[in-house]
Amino acid sequence: MIVRKTLKGLRRQLDQAKKEGKTIGFTPTLGALHQGHVSLINRTVEENEISVCSIFVNPTQFNEKSDLKKYPRTFQADSKLLKEANLDILFFPSANQVYPKGLNTKVKVNLGGLDTLMEGGFRPGHFEGVVQVVKRLLDMVQPDRLYMGQKDFQQFTIIQKMINELKIKTELVVCPIVREPHGLAMSSRNERLSKETRKKAKVIFNTLSEIKANLNDKSPEEWMEWSMKKLKRKPFNPEYVSIVDGHTLLPVKSFRKHKYVVVCAAVWADDVRLIDNVILKNNSK
Ligand code: AMP
Repeated sequence: MIVRKTLKGLRRQLDQAKKEGKTIGFTPTLGALHQGHVSLINRTVEENEISVCSIFVNPTQFNEKSDLKKYPRTFQADSKLLKEANLDILFFPSANQVYPKGLNTKVKVNLGGLDTLMEGGFRPGHFEGVVQVVKRLLDMVQPDRLYMGQKDFQQFTIIQKMINELKIKTELVVCPIVREPHGLAMSSRNERLSKETRKKAKVIFNTLSEIKANLNDKSPEEWMEWSMKKLKRKPFNPEYVSIVDGHTLLPVKSFRKHKYVVVCAAVWADDVRLIDNVILKNNSK
């Protein structure tokens, strides 16, 4: 595995690969890697001739400065994991490389309101930062395929919209959610939970799964109310549970009228904000 910290170094490597007609797969991350990330890396390595992963804690997507400061940085352990996964290139740029002075990296794109719902409502400016960094990283890496997790459902939906709108020649590959043995979706933020809360946090996945198992017992609205109540037990406090159309992310009134429906939730566990989702139905393929 080669580590590149500058755009120049990265391009030297990738231009050569492109000249040789090799396919490039890319997984962007914030680091503090876990098995969820590794599943994306494994796909990237398997499906492409050259695999690239970036570690960059992007300041523009953190609406809370304290969250940015608290974000775990574990470069040594991360690079060990990536090496073991047979990654070819680890891109580890500084903020100056991603956002050099004088370069306008703001992205003008019509996201059709996808960025204002759910996470967008509670984390103002978050998706603007995500779109900015992913576009900039795509410009830098120029991959054939981009790998993202279903864990961040709204994020990949927005990135797919950006790719379509800007006619970017990269295919988005979405990978399933990897969970801890009890069901909690893996996240770098799980490390900040106490042992007890981490165990109890299976209630999030259990609640969302119960909706899926008994879908037609209640209307979407009733299920949302039911799950908000179920998740409002110390140390948990739900910010939202939304049952939405998987394409538009707008709340659904009936399950029957939609082919693709997903339930998304954001829940505080003590002072840690966790997100999760479960696809309730998908007949749109
Ligand atoms: P992050 O470092 O949190 O920005 O995540 C980098 C990528 O890994 C994103 O595309 C996430 O959706 C994905 N990811 C994070 N957690 C998981 C998980 N538990 N399972 C699958 N993918 C994940």
